[in-house]
Amino acid sequence: QFPFGRRLPCDIYWHGVSFHENDIFSGQVNKFPGMTEVVRKITLSRAVRTMQDLFPLEYNFYPRSWILPEEFPLFVAEVRMMKDSDPSWKPTFIVKPDGGCQGDGIYLIKDPSDIRLTGSIQSRPAVVQEYICKPLLVDKLKFDIRLYVLLKSLEPLEIYIAKDGLSRFCTEPYQEPTLKNLHQVFMHLTNYSLNVHSGNFIHSDNVNTGSKRTFSSILCRLSSQGADVKKLWSDIISLVIKTIIALTPELKVYYQSDIPAGKPGPTCFQILGFDILLMKNLKPMLLEVNANPSMRIEHEQELSPGVFENVPSPVDEEVKVAVIRDTLRLVDPQKKKR
Ligand code: ADP
Repeated sequence: QFPFGRRLPCDIYWHGVSFHENDIFSGQVNKFPGMTEVVRKITLSRAVRTMQDLFPLEYNFYPRSWILPEEFPLFVAEVRMMKDSDPSWKPTFIVKPDGGCQGDGIYLIKDPSDIRLTGSIQSRPAVVQEYICKPLLVDKLKFDIRLYVLLKSLEPLEIYIAKDGLSRFCTEPYQEPTLKNLHQVFMHLTNYSLNVHSGNFIHSDNVNTGSKRTFSSILCRLSSQGADVKKLWSDIISLVIKTIIALTPELKVYYQSDIPAGKPGPTCFQILGFDILLMKNLKPMLLEVNANPSMRIEHEQELSPGVFENVPSPVDEEVKVAVIRDTLRLVDPQKKKR
């Protein structure tokens, strides 16, 4: 660990949070310049929307979204239009502050007029998007998938997807959104950081039970129920590739400005966390991309009131150790020479 930088060159630099130059002239860095900015909720929505306009069918894996506050009038007008053309349409929307994480500041609404436009939204822009009302349930619970994706190179584009990921479960049985249950975060939001505070949260001691399981254990279960798991994987792979393609133009601008061609500099790679929700019909939908996914393999346990201890989390360990190990193997300079 070199908190104040290091003079001798390294083969691989592992930055904690984001790319910062630090006079690196060779080797590889585990972050791309600008990645944090590019995957923020608003920038991601914009990038995907551009592609949706060009290729609507190819990019139908991202919920319809509007950027607040600037697109609020458009949001109101489009929802009114859609309601007029289909009076049976009873949508729900989810409002997510830009740059937020861990479910922070997120809320559900039934009508555009329920948006809290005063104060916070002016100072804190957000994305409002169509809420996916019919997610796939396991044990009556909503869950999402965290997949780890290695962007190994931007030019040429090289993408690797880890074969296993995490499934993070809600802790209250799911019901489709109604005015009465809109506020129940343990029913609607799958964030670990929220659900861990529910009395129903179960720390898993193996990979296929509890509130955090491996994605492979879910696939096993779906496959035993006759689901077409191969098709699901192929849809997920295509979602990941298309999302990265949507982000590529802006990433290249950052790259060329921070590491101009012809000047000595490092090459970059990055592990991204893709959050994906499966709909009831097994269609994967992109929720968000995380530039700095947590690599913790422990969780806190309260031994006695106020006294905490870190204990190993077998599910996190199974998935994340493999992700880091395989990433290092893929970027291993010795292997490159060979
Ligand atoms: P954060 O960065 O705060 O975790 P997310 O975009 O991941 O924000 O949303 C938090 C949670 O809300 C997700 O894990 C998911 O459970 C739920 N969620 C987000 N967007 C949708 C959506 N469009 N439809 C249904 N559920 C959603």
